[in-house]
Amino acid sequence: MTSATRPYQSYVYAYPHKTAYRPLAAHHAGRPLLRDLWAAERKDALSLYLHIPFCEVRCGFCNLFTRIGAPDELTTRYLDALDRQASAVRDALGDDGPVRFSAAAFGGGTPTFLTAGELERLCDIAEKRMGADLRSVPLSVETSPSTATADRLAVLADRGTTRISIGVQSFVDAEARAAVRPQHRSEVEAALGRIRDARIPVLNIDLIYGIDGQTEKTWRTSLDAALAWRPEELYLYPLYVRPLTGLGRQGTAAGTADGPDAAWDEQRLRLYRAGREHLLGQGYEQVSMRMFRRADAPHAGPDDYACQTDGMIGLGCGARSYTSSLHYSFDYAVEMREIRGIIDGFTATEDFSRAEVGRYVDGDEARRRHVLQSLLQAGGLRSEEYRERFGSDPRADFTDELDLVAGRGWLDTSAPPGLLRLSPEGLAHSDALGPELFSPAVRAAMAAYEQK
Ligand code: SF4
Repeated sequence: MTSATRPYQSYVYAYPHKTAYRPLAAHHAGRPLLRDLWAAERKDALSLYLHIPFCEVRCGFCNLFTRIGAPDELTTRYLDALDRQASAVRDALGDDGPVRFSAAAFGGGTPTFLTAGELERLCDIAEKRMGADLRSVPLSVETSPSTATADRLAVLADRGTTRISIGVQSFVDAEARAAVRPQHRSEVEAALGRIRDARIPVLNIDLIYGIDGQTEKTWRTSLDAALAWRPEELYLYPLYVRPLTGLGRQGTAAGTADGPDAAWDEQRLRLYRAGREHLLGQGYEQVSMRMFRRADAPHAGPDDYACQTDGMIGLGCGARSYTSSLHYSFDYAVEMREIRGIIDGFTATEDFSRAEVGRYVDGDEARRRHVLQSLLQAGGLRSEEYRERFGSDPRADFTDELDLVAGRGWLDTSAPPGLLRLSPEGLAHSDALGPELFSPAVRAAMAAYEQK
Protein backbone atom coordinates (compact mmCIF):
# COMPACT_ATOMS: atom_id res chain seq x y z
CA MET A 1 0.00 0.00 0.00
CA THR A 2 1.47 3.41 -0.86
CA SER A 3 1.36 6.16 1.72
CA ALA A 4 -1.19 7.98 -0.43
CA THR A 5 -3.74 5.25 0.05
CA ARG A 6 -3.11 4.34 3.67
CA PRO A 7 -6.55 4.90 5.10
CA TYR A 8 -5.76 6.64 8.39
CA GLN A 9 -3.69 9.76 7.83
CA SER A 10 -5.61 12.34 9.82
CA TYR A 11 -9.08 13.44 10.76
CA VAL A 12 -10.07 16.65 9.02
CA TYR A 13 -12.50 18.30 11.41
CA ALA A 14 -11.47 21.82 10.57
CA TYR A 15 -9.53 23.27 7.68
CA PRO A 16 -6.96 24.70 7.90
CA HIS A 17 -5.71 22.71 10.89
CA LYS A 18 -4.50 24.65 13.92
CA THR A 19 -0.94 23.55 13.27
CA ALA A 20 -1.08 25.83 10.21
CA TYR A 21 -1.85 28.83 12.45
CA ARG A 22 0.97 31.20 13.40
CA PRO A 23 1.40 34.02 15.91
CA LEU A 24 -0.19 37.02 14.25
CA ALA A 25 2.31 39.40 15.82
CA ALA A 26 4.76 38.13 13.18
CA HIS A 27 2.33 38.95 10.35
CA HIS A 28 2.79 42.30 8.60
CA ALA A 29 -0.69 43.36 9.78
CA GLY A 30 0.20 42.48 13.39
CA ARG A 31 -2.36 41.26 15.90
CA PRO A 32 -5.63 42.60 14.51
CA LEU A 33 -8.24 44.20 16.73
CA LEU A 34 -11.33 41.98 16.96
CA ARG A 35 -13.42 45.08 16.38
CA ASP A 36 -11.81 45.59 12.96
CA LEU A 37 -11.92 41.90 12.10
CA TRP A 38 -15.64 41.63 12.71
CA ALA A 39 -16.69 45.07 11.42
CA ALA A 40 -17.76 43.96 7.93
CA GLU A 41 -18.89 40.42 8.82
CA ARG A 42 -22.45 39.12 8.88
CA LYS A 43 -23.29 38.57 12.50
CA ASP A 44 -26.93 37.52 12.48
CA ALA A 45 -26.37 33.72 12.49
CA LEU A 46 -23.17 33.13 14.40
CA SER A 47 -22.12 29.93 16.13
CA LEU A 48 -20.86 30.15 19.69
CA TYR A 49 -18.37 27.67 21.11
CA LEU A 50 -17.14 27.64 24.71
CA HIS A 51 -14.09 25.54 25.44
CA ILE A 52 -13.53 23.95 28.85
CA PRO A 53 -10.01 22.48 28.91
CA PHE A 54 -10.31 20.15 31.91
CA CYS A 55 -10.70 16.38 32.22
CA GLU A 56 -10.62 13.95 35.11
CA VAL A 57 -8.25 11.62 33.29
CA ARG A 58 -6.28 11.94 30.10
CA CYS A 59 -7.39 9.29 27.63
CA GLY A 60 -4.48 7.60 25.93
CA PHE A 61 -5.70 8.36 22.43
CA CYS A 62 -6.57 12.00 23.05
CA ASN A 63 -4.78 14.89 21.38
CA LEU A 64 -7.34 17.52 22.33
CA PHE A 65 -6.41 20.65 24.19
CA THR A 66 -7.11 19.67 27.79
CA ARG A 67 -5.45 19.10 31.16
CA ILE A 68 -6.09 16.69 34.02
CA GLY A 69 -7.68 18.24 37.07
CA ALA A 70 -7.89 21.87 38.07
CA PRO A 71 -5.96 22.64 41.26
CA ASP A 72 -6.23 25.83 43.32
CA GLU A 73 -9.56 27.16 42.11
CA LEU A 74 -8.34 27.00 38.54
CA THR A 75 -11.88 26.50 37.21
CA THR A 76 -12.97 29.73 38.97
CA ARG A 77 -10.07 31.65 37.49
CA TYR A 78 -10.78 30.10 34.12
CA LEU A 79 -14.44 31.13 34.23
CA ASP A 80 -13.42 34.62 35.36
CA ALA A 81 -11.18 34.87 32.29
CA LEU A 82 -13.92 33.48 30.05
CA ASP A 83 -16.22 36.14 31.42
CA ARG A 84 -13.70 38.90 30.62
CA GLN A 85 -13.11 37.46 27.18
CA ALA A 86 -16.85 37.24 26.47
CA SER A 87 -17.34 40.89 27.43
CA ALA A 88 -14.46 41.98 25.22
CA VAL A 89 -15.63 39.92 22.26
CA ARG A 90 -19.25 41.07 22.56
CA ASP A 91 -18.00 44.68 22.62
CA ALA A 92 -15.94 44.01 19.52
CA LEU A 93 -18.98 42.68 17.65
CA GLY A 94 -20.59 46.10 18.07
CA ASP A 95 -24.23 47.05 17.82
CA ASP A 96 -24.45 48.54 14.35
CA GLY A 97 -26.28 45.55 12.96
CA PRO A 98 -28.04 42.55 14.45
CA VAL A 99 -25.80 40.20 16.45
CA ARG A 100 -27.46 36.82 16.89
CA PHE A 101 -26.34 33.31 17.65
CA SER A 102 -28.04 30.43 15.86
CA ALA A 103 -26.19 27.57 17.55
CA ALA A 104 -24.10 27.03 20.66
CA ALA A 105 -21.83 24.30 21.97
CA PHE A 106 -19.77 23.60 25.08
CA GLY A 107 -16.82 21.38 24.32
CA GLY A 108 -13.51 20.39 25.74
CA GLY A 109 -11.97 18.71 27.43
CA THR A 110 -15.02 17.80 29.44
CA PRO A 111 -17.42 20.71 30.08
CA THR A 112 -19.10 18.65 32.81
CA PHE A 113 -15.82 18.62 34.70
CA LEU A 114 -17.35 21.88 35.97
CA THR A 115 -19.74 21.61 38.92
CA ALA A 116 -23.47 22.25 38.50
CA GLY A 117 -23.00 25.76 39.88
CA GLU A 118 -20.12 26.43 37.50
CA LEU A 119 -22.21 25.19 34.57
CA GLU A 120 -24.88 27.74 35.55
CA ARG A 121 -22.20 30.37 35.36
CA LEU A 122 -21.02 29.10 31.99
CA CYS A 123 -24.58 29.41 30.64
CA ASP A 124 -24.83 32.89 32.13
CA ILE A 125 -21.66 33.91 30.30
CA ALA A 126 -23.13 32.66 27.02
CA GLU A 127 -26.45 34.38 27.64
CA LYS A 128 -25.72 37.55 29.58
CA ARG A 129 -22.33 38.43 28.20
CA MET A 130 -22.67 37.17 24.64
CA GLY A 131 -26.43 37.53 24.21
CA ALA A 132 -27.00 33.94 23.04
CA ASP A 133 -30.55 32.77 23.69
CA LEU A 134 -29.61 29.24 24.72
CA ARG A 135 -33.17 28.01 25.14
CA SER A 136 -34.13 28.85 21.59
CA VAL A 137 -31.12 27.55 19.65
CA PRO A 138 -29.48 24.12 19.37
CA LEU A 139 -27.08 23.70 22.31
CA SER A 140 -24.69 20.78 22.27
CA VAL A 141 -22.63 19.72 25.31
CA GLU A 142 -19.92 17.08 25.68
CA THR A 143 -19.75 14.89 28.76
CA SER A 144 -18.08 11.77 30.16
CA PRO A 145 -19.48 8.83 32.15
CA SER A 146 -18.18 9.91 35.54
CA THR A 147 -19.08 13.59 35.22
CA ALA A 148 -22.58 13.11 33.76
CA THR A 149 -24.16 13.48 37.21
CA ALA A 150 -27.84 14.16 37.80
CA ASP A 151 -27.31 17.67 39.20
CA ARG A 152 -25.17 18.77 36.25
CA LEU A 153 -27.54 17.23 33.70
CA ALA A 154 -30.48 18.98 35.39
CA VAL A 155 -28.76 22.35 34.94
CA LEU A 156 -27.92 21.60 31.33
CA ALA A 157 -31.43 20.40 30.50
CA ASP A 158 -32.98 23.41 32.22
CA ARG A 159 -30.71 25.84 30.36
CA GLY A 160 -31.74 24.46 26.99
CA THR A 161 -29.31 21.70 26.04
CA THR A 162 -30.66 19.91 22.98
CA ARG A 163 -27.81 17.47 22.43
CA ILE A 164 -25.51 15.69 24.81
CA SER A 165 -22.51 13.80 23.54
CA ILE A 166 -20.82 11.21 25.72
CA GLY A 167 -17.44 9.64 25.08
CA VAL A 168 -17.84 5.97 25.94
CA GLN A 169 -15.26 4.56 23.49
CA SER A 170 -15.89 0.93 24.48
CA PHE A 171 -18.38 -0.98 26.61
CA VAL A 172 -15.78 -3.69 27.11
CA ASP A 173 -13.80 -2.94 30.27
CA ALA A 174 -10.54 -4.48 29.05
CA GLU A 175 -10.68 -2.37 25.88
CA ALA A 176 -11.38 0.76 27.88
CA ARG A 177 -8.24 -0.01 29.87
CA ALA A 178 -6.24 -0.64 26.70
CA ALA A 179 -7.23 2.78 25.37
CA VAL A 180 -6.05 4.23 28.71
CA ARG A 181 -9.45 5.15 30.00
CA PRO A 182 -10.21 2.96 32.97
CA GLN A 183 -13.95 2.69 33.44
CA HIS A 184 -16.53 0.04 34.19
CA ARG A 185 -19.43 -0.75 31.97
CA SER A 186 -21.80 -0.45 34.93
CA GLU A 187 -20.73 3.20 35.41
CA VAL A 188 -21.24 3.88 31.73
CA GLU A 189 -24.71 2.33 31.74
CA ALA A 190 -25.65 4.32 34.85
CA ALA A 191 -24.51 7.56 33.18
CA LEU A 192 -26.56 6.78 30.07
CA GLY A 193 -29.57 6.16 32.30
CA ARG A 194 -29.12 9.57 33.96
CA ILE A 195 -28.81 11.24 30.56
CA ARG A 196 -32.03 9.64 29.32
CA ASP A 197 -33.74 10.65 32.59
CA ALA A 198 -32.71 14.25 31.94
CA ARG A 199 -34.75 14.14 28.70
CA ILE A 200 -32.27 16.00 26.55
CA PRO A 201 -33.60 15.41 23.01
CA VAL A 202 -30.48 14.11 21.29
CA LEU A 203 -28.01 11.64 22.77
CA ASN A 204 -24.77 11.00 20.93
CA ILE A 205 -22.46 8.16 21.92
CA ASP A 206 -18.81 8.11 20.78
CA LEU A 207 -17.21 4.70 20.21
CA ILE A 208 -13.69 3.81 19.08
CA TYR A 209 -12.47 0.97 16.89
CA GLY A 210 -8.96 -0.30 16.40
CA ILE A 211 -8.18 -0.81 20.09
CA ASP A 212 -5.58 -3.45 20.90
CA GLY A 213 -7.35 -6.79 21.32
CA GLN A 214 -10.65 -5.56 19.86
CA THR A 215 -12.33 -8.09 17.56
CA GLU A 216 -15.42 -7.98 15.39
CA LYS A 217 -17.24 -9.76 18.18
CA THR A 218 -16.26 -7.33 20.94
CA TRP A 219 -16.88 -4.40 18.61
CA ARG A 220 -20.38 -5.74 18.06
CA THR A 221 -20.79 -5.97 21.85
CA SER A 222 -20.05 -2.25 22.16
CA LEU A 223 -22.25 -1.33 19.22
CA ASP A 224 -25.18 -3.33 20.59
CA ALA A 225 -24.73 -1.94 24.09
CA ALA A 226 -24.87 1.57 22.61
CA LEU A 227 -27.82 0.69 20.36
CA ALA A 228 -29.79 -0.53 23.38
CA TRP A 229 -30.12 3.16 24.34
CA ARG A 230 -31.46 4.02 20.87
CA PRO A 231 -29.10 7.01 20.66
CA GLU A 232 -30.14 9.60 18.13
CA GLU A 233 -26.51 9.79 16.97
CA LEU A 234 -23.46 7.56 17.07
CA TYR A 235 -19.91 8.54 16.19
CA LEU A 236 -17.53 5.73 15.33
CA TYR A 237 -13.94 6.91 15.58
CA PRO A 238 -10.90 5.03 14.33
CA LEU A 239 -8.23 4.93 17.02
CA TYR A 240 -5.24 7.06 16.23
CA VAL A 241 -2.03 6.83 18.14
CA ARG A 242 -0.31 10.12 17.89
CA PRO A 243 3.03 11.35 19.12
CA LEU A 244 2.86 12.97 22.57
CA THR A 245 -0.43 11.39 23.59
CA GLY A 246 -0.39 8.67 26.27
CA LEU A 247 -0.45 5.74 23.85
CA GLY A 248 2.07 7.44 21.58
CA ARG A 249 4.53 7.65 24.44
CA GLN A 250 4.01 4.03 25.37
CA GLY A 251 4.75 3.15 21.75
CA THR A 252 3.06 -0.22 22.18
CA ALA A 253 -0.62 -1.09 22.05
CA ALA A 254 -1.99 -1.55 18.58
CA GLY A 255 0.95 -0.20 16.63
CA THR A 256 3.77 2.24 16.66
CA ALA A 257 3.24 5.97 16.46
CA ASP A 258 4.70 6.26 13.00
CA GLY A 259 5.60 4.00 10.15
CA PRO A 260 3.14 1.87 8.28
CA ASP A 261 1.17 -0.69 10.19
CA ALA A 262 -0.79 -2.53 7.56
CA ALA A 263 -2.35 -5.02 9.95
CA TRP A 264 -3.72 -2.25 12.12
CA ASP A 265 -5.05 -0.41 9.06
CA GLU A 266 -6.71 -3.61 7.97
CA GLN A 267 -8.25 -4.17 11.43
CA ARG A 268 -9.65 -0.66 11.52
CA LEU A 269 -11.08 -0.88 8.00
CA ARG A 270 -12.67 -4.22 8.81
CA LEU A 271 -14.23 -2.93 12.04
CA TYR A 272 -15.37 0.24 10.30
CA ARG A 273 -17.15 -1.76 7.60
CA ALA A 274 -18.73 -4.10 10.12
CA GLY A 275 -19.87 -1.18 12.26
CA ARG A 276 -21.27 0.76 9.33
CA GLU A 277 -23.15 -2.22 8.01
CA HIS A 278 -24.58 -2.99 11.43
CA LEU A 279 -25.79 0.57 12.01
CA LEU A 280 -27.32 0.84 8.53
CA GLY A 281 -29.20 -2.37 9.28
CA GLN A 282 -30.46 -0.90 12.57
CA GLY A 283 -32.15 2.12 11.01
CA TYR A 284 -29.27 4.58 11.09
CA GLU A 285 -28.12 6.69 8.18
CA GLN A 286 -24.54 7.62 7.54
CA VAL A 287 -23.78 11.33 7.66
CA SER A 288 -20.00 11.09 7.31
CA MET A 289 -17.31 8.49 7.82
CA ARG A 290 -17.71 8.94 11.58
CA MET A 291 -21.25 10.12 12.08
CA PHE A 292 -24.45 8.07 12.00
CA ARG A 293 -27.93 9.40 12.76
CA ARG A 294 -31.04 7.43 13.65
CA ALA A 295 -33.28 7.91 10.63
CA ASP A 296 -36.28 8.94 12.76
CA ALA A 297 -34.34 11.23 15.12
CA PRO A 298 -35.00 14.95 15.50
CA HIS A 299 -32.39 17.24 14.08
CA ALA A 300 -30.99 19.12 17.03
CA GLY A 301 -27.65 20.54 16.18
CA PRO A 302 -25.19 21.27 13.46
CA ASP A 303 -23.65 18.28 11.70
CA ASP A 304 -19.94 17.68 11.40
CA TYR A 305 -20.02 20.42 8.88
CA ALA A 306 -22.46 23.27 8.60
CA CYS A 307 -22.26 26.30 6.37
CA GLN A 308 -22.77 28.71 9.22
CA THR A 309 -19.44 27.66 10.72
CA ASP A 310 -18.11 30.57 8.69
CA GLY A 311 -19.14 32.94 11.44
CA MET A 312 -17.88 31.28 14.60
CA ILE A 313 -17.08 32.82 17.95
CA GLY A 314 -14.93 30.55 20.08
CA LEU A 315 -14.28 31.48 23.70
CA GLY A 316 -11.70 29.84 25.94
CA CYS A 317 -8.06 29.08 25.42
CA GLY A 318 -8.40 26.21 22.95
CA ALA A 319 -11.32 27.54 20.90
CA ARG A 320 -11.14 28.67 17.31
CA SER A 321 -12.99 31.64 15.87
CA TYR A 322 -13.71 32.16 12.19
CA THR A 323 -14.36 35.28 10.21
CA SER A 324 -14.57 35.03 6.43
CA SER A 325 -10.90 35.98 6.12
CA LEU A 326 -9.18 34.88 9.32
CA HIS A 327 -9.28 31.75 11.47
CA TYR A 328 -7.81 32.47 14.88
CA SER A 329 -7.37 31.13 18.39
CA PHE A 330 -5.00 31.16 21.32
CA ASP A 331 -1.78 29.18 21.22
CA TYR A 332 -1.99 25.44 20.64
CA ALA A 333 -0.25 22.44 22.19
CA VAL A 334 -0.68 18.72 22.83
CA GLU A 335 1.98 18.17 25.46
CA MET A 336 0.69 18.53 29.02
CA ARG A 337 3.22 21.00 30.38
CA GLU A 338 2.71 23.32 27.41
CA ILE A 339 -1.05 23.06 27.77
CA ARG A 340 -0.87 23.99 31.45
CA GLY A 341 1.24 27.02 30.61
CA ILE A 342 -1.23 28.17 27.96
CA ILE A 343 -4.20 27.75 30.32
CA ASP A 344 -2.38 29.70 33.03
CA GLY A 345 -1.59 32.39 30.48
CA PHE A 346 -5.23 32.54 29.46
CA THR A 347 -6.48 32.91 33.04
CA ALA A 348 -4.05 35.80 33.61
CA THR A 349 -5.08 37.64 30.43
CA GLU A 350 -6.79 41.00 30.90
CA ASP A 351 -6.76 42.28 27.33
CA PHE A 352 -8.82 40.13 24.97
CA SER A 353 -9.25 42.77 22.28
CA ARG A 354 -6.98 41.23 19.64
CA ALA A 355 -6.55 37.97 17.74
CA GLU A 356 -3.32 36.24 18.82
CA VAL A 357 -2.67 33.20 16.65
CA GLY A 358 -4.27 32.40 13.33
CA ARG A 359 -4.23 31.99 9.61
CA TYR A 360 -5.65 34.19 6.89
CA VAL A 361 -7.93 32.25 4.58
CA ASP A 362 -8.00 33.64 1.06
CA GLY A 363 -10.45 32.93 -1.77
CA ASP A 364 -8.74 29.74 -2.92
CA GLU A 365 -8.62 28.37 0.63
CA ALA A 366 -12.29 29.18 1.19
CA ARG A 367 -13.20 27.22 -1.95
CA ARG A 368 -10.96 24.38 -0.95
CA ARG A 369 -12.48 24.30 2.49
CA HIS A 370 -15.97 24.13 1.03
CA VAL A 371 -14.99 21.26 -1.30
CA LEU A 372 -13.20 19.39 1.45
CA GLN A 373 -15.89 19.72 4.07
CA SER A 374 -18.81 18.89 1.79
CA LEU A 375 -17.08 16.06 -0.06
CA LEU A 376 -16.32 14.36 3.25
CA GLN A 377 -20.04 14.30 4.08
CA ALA A 378 -22.08 11.37 2.83
CA GLY A 379 -24.46 13.90 1.20
CA GLY A 380 -21.66 15.13 -1.05
CA LEU A 381 -20.83 18.37 -2.81
CA ARG A 382 -23.52 20.12 -4.84
CA SER A 383 -22.06 22.04 -7.76
CA GLU A 384 -25.03 24.41 -7.66
CA GLU A 385 -24.37 25.42 -4.05
CA TYR A 386 -20.70 25.90 -4.79
CA ARG A 387 -21.53 28.00 -7.85
CA GLU A 388 -23.90 30.18 -5.84
CA ARG A 389 -21.24 30.82 -3.26
CA PHE A 390 -18.16 31.20 -5.44
CA GLY A 391 -19.45 31.80 -8.97
CA SER A 392 -17.53 28.92 -10.54
CA ASP A 393 -17.62 25.16 -10.98
CA PRO A 394 -15.80 22.94 -8.47
CA ARG A 395 -14.71 20.58 -11.24
CA ALA A 396 -13.00 23.45 -13.03
CA ASP A 397 -11.43 24.85 -9.84
CA PHE A 398 -10.16 21.51 -8.52
CA THR A 399 -9.71 19.37 -11.63
CA ASP A 400 -6.54 17.59 -10.49
CA GLU A 401 -7.83 16.84 -7.03
CA LEU A 402 -11.17 15.51 -8.24
CA ASP A 403 -9.52 13.45 -10.99
CA LEU A 404 -7.40 11.84 -8.33
CA VAL A 405 -10.46 10.98 -6.25
CA ALA A 406 -12.25 9.56 -9.30
CA GLY A 407 -9.13 7.66 -10.36
CA ARG A 408 -9.12 5.79 -7.08
CA GLY A 409 -12.72 4.76 -7.57
CA TRP A 410 -13.73 6.89 -4.60
CA LEU A 411 -16.49 8.85 -6.39
CA ASP A 412 -20.01 7.45 -6.59
CA THR A 413 -20.60 7.09 -10.33
CA SER A 414 -24.33 6.65 -9.80
CA ALA A 415 -24.77 10.12 -8.23
CA PRO A 416 -27.10 12.45 -10.15
CA PRO A 417 -25.53 15.15 -12.35
CA GLY A 418 -24.26 18.12 -10.37
CA LEU A 419 -23.58 16.04 -7.27
CA LEU A 420 -20.07 14.93 -6.34
CA ARG A 421 -20.47 12.19 -3.80
CA LEU A 422 -18.00 9.70 -2.37
CA SER A 423 -18.54 6.01 -2.96
CA PRO A 424 -18.69 3.81 0.18
CA GLU A 425 -15.00 3.04 -0.42
CA GLY A 426 -14.25 6.75 -0.75
CA LEU A 427 -16.07 7.48 2.50
CA ALA A 428 -14.11 4.70 4.23
CA HIS A 429 -10.94 6.47 3.09
CA SER A 430 -12.02 9.96 4.25
CA ASP A 431 -8.96 10.27 6.47
CA ALA A 432 -6.64 9.58 3.55
CA LEU A 433 -8.53 11.78 1.13
CA GLY A 434 -8.95 14.83 3.38
CA PRO A 435 -5.24 15.60 3.84
CA GLU A 436 -4.64 15.13 0.11
CA LEU A 437 -6.98 18.01 -0.58
CA PHE A 438 -5.03 20.46 1.57
CA SER A 439 -3.35 23.29 -0.34
CA PRO A 440 0.43 23.14 -0.72
CA ALA A 441 0.73 26.24 1.50
CA VAL A 442 -1.28 24.72 4.35
CA ARG A 443 0.58 21.46 4.01
CA ALA A 444 3.92 23.26 4.24
CA ALA A 445 2.82 25.24 7.30
CA MET A 446 1.62 22.06 9.03
CA ALA A 447 4.88 20.28 8.22
CA ALA A 448 6.89 23.20 9.60
CA TYR A 449 4.89 23.29 12.83
CA GLU A 450 6.98 22.32 15.78
CA GLN A 451 5.11 19.73 17.81
CA LYS A 452 4.85 20.79 21.42
S1 SF4 B 1 -10.94 12.09 25.02
FE1 SF4 B 1 -12.30 13.57 26.01
S2 SF4 B 1 -12.39 12.91 28.15
FE2 SF4 B 1 -10.60 11.90 27.25
S3 SF4 B 1 -8.88 13.28 27.71
FE3 SF4 B 1 -9.65 13.81 25.67
S4 SF4 B 1 -11.10 15.48 26.01
FE4 SF4 B 1 -10.78 14.46 28.00
